Amino acid sequence: MSESVDFQSVQSEISSSSNYNVVRCNCNREANVVRAWTPKNPGRRFYGCSGFGARDKKKACNFFRWYDLEKPHGWQHLALLEARDIIQEQKDEIADLRTKVSSLTHSSELEDKLKKKGEECEALKREVVMLREKSSVIRNVVVSSVGFGVLVGGIMVMSKW
Ligand SMILES: [Zn+2]
Repeated sequence: MSESVDFQSVQSEISSSSNYNVVRCNCNREANVVRAWTPKNPGRRFYGCSGFGARDKKKACNFFRWYDLEKPHGWQHLALLEARDIIQEQKDEIADLRTKVSSLTHSSELEDKLKKKGEECEALKREVVMLREKSSVIRNVVVSSVGFGVLVGGIMVMSKW
């Protein structure tokens, strides 16, 4: 089993469906059917344990058994390798585009925030202008009422005479 070492480099888990016979591994866990994507065995399925290659040596399990007994061969083998590479390229491209899209939405979020801040600024400016007007009105009222008071006082003083 010289290939049992390299199969973990490229593999994809197949959803554990009831279509597969339940196989128990060495550590008595239910073995998953996984697809290998190695150069030697592209697309070939095997039973694998979730404990395979575990760092904890006690939990590690080296159970391995091919599900597809036949090896990939001939032009199908090459076609699968080609398809694997194309899929990988497309995956990379999609990941690239995803990051670009997320950075774009992020920058438009920033624009929105800036716009909101600008609007807040304008609102504050208007408030300042209004407060200035109010304070000048109040000043006028104070000045005129003081003037009125002086006038009334003067009249009262004068009427005493
Ligand atoms: Zn196991």
